[in-house]
Amino acid sequence: MTDMPVVEISPIKVGIDKKRKNGDLMNIGVARETFPGEKRVALVPAVMPNLKKAGFEIVIEEGAGLASGISDTAYRERGAQIVKSRQIAIGSSEIILYVRGLGANRNAGMADFDLYRKGQVIVGMLDPSNSQTELKKLAEMGVTAFALELLPRTTRAQSMDVLSSMATAAGYKAVLMAAQTLPKMFPLLMTAAGTVPAARVFILGAGVAGLQAIATARRLGAIVQAYDIRPAVKEQVESLGAKFVELPLESGRSETSGGYARAMDAEFYSRQQELMAQVVAGSDVVICTAAVPGKRAPLLITGDMVGKMKLGAVIVDLAAEQGGNCELTKPGENVVHGGVSIMGPVNLASDLSFDSSQMYSRNLANFLLYLIGEDGKLRLNSDDEIIRATNATSPARLSNSGTTPSAPSSGQ
Ligand code: NAD
Repeated sequence: MTDMPVVEISPIKVGIDKKRKNGDLMNIGVARETFPGEKRVALVPAVMPNLKKAGFEIVIEEGAGLASGISDTAYRERGAQIVKSRQIAIGSSEIILYVRGLGANRNAGMADFDLYRKGQVIVGMLDPSNSQTELKKLAEMGVTAFALELLPRTTRAQSMDVLSSMATAAGYKAVLMAAQTLPKMFPLLMTAAGTVPAARVFILGAGVAGLQAIATARRLGAIVQAYDIRPAVKEQVESLGAKFVELPLESGRSETSGGYARAMDAEFYSRQQELMAQVVAGSDVVICTAAVPGKRAPLLITGDMVGKMKLGAVIVDLAAEQGGNCELTKPGENVVHGGVSIMGPVNLASDLSFDSSQMYSRNLANFLLYLIGEDGKLRLNSDDEIIRATNATSPARLSNSGTTPSAPSSGQ
């Protein structure tokens, strides 16, 4: 079997000059992902030179990268030690990396509890808002867990932002799924058999996934419109060549200081449904990405609205894992209702496992290098904003768990 070509990535910017002290050897362990159907891997060979330069050794469970197109040989060539079992990969490491751990891998992930020991550090997407009991147990065991969903969306943390990376992959893939299912072509074509009109695509929610969906649908030649509750994104939507749909809604208070959408009341959403009905009915494709961190996704497309769409139209609901933006969405299923396909993909970034793993791994390596302090030791309990925010086992975080704003799920 041949590996996918190794992507040369630009050097990691954070912490590259900091080297862990000799004699302070630390292993980073990566085991196969156990979430059902998960194809990504937490660490790819391309980031290993930077981690090794910083004083880490890498231990990989045999076959961990295969579903991402990465062979054991590719890891070995960059200096990793390949081990036979998950027990060895986890047991021989001080830091254990996951794509989906704890609550983000609720059933299978809990089996790793028996393999942890005091002093270990786990890092990954852990769905901390739904893992409070497990996080408390880890803290009692003396294990530190960093949940990357909790990274602040600041410029400093941008290179570690796994949610943005995964949302980018999901936004792109959602458009391809729609194009594959729609019985029409996306671009305007002038042919000898007449003119084929361009498909009309409506993107609901213009965050990271939505903006990538706009860009992808535009590249395929569709006419694209988008709406977001945060008026600030209008300019970004237009800069990608899409039209921003103006709805006469009072959305002045719709953005939090962190740049996320705020949950609005039922009356607001019902008015939004009413105002959007015409745009939805006139679209061939609707890509739903609207989300509010820690809350059920807002219900914005009712069954009635679907009933007024064209035969053959497609809805791809990326909010499926958070309850869906469309009333008829079933997570993980494709439903056909009155000739309209409603797709509710889950864990979509995993379908693009090679590139998703490259991005995820680079984010993770940036985070690990950031964790190293001036003395070469890991800054596990630092007051630094990024470290404090992501340490899901810190006493402050655990005592605050009832009121802590939870992060979006790791699904995309
Ligand atoms: P998200 O997944 O939480 O939500 C997706 C989108 O849905 C958001 O744009 C939100 O405004 C929108 N939405 C919520 N309710 C809606 C409704 N009723 N109708 C229409 N749209 C609705 O968000 P995300 O994509 O993870 O990121 C949100 C924002 O965070 C980004 O657009 C950006 O401003 C900020 N961000 C900043 C950085 C950084 O500076 N490092 C990185 C990533 C994201």
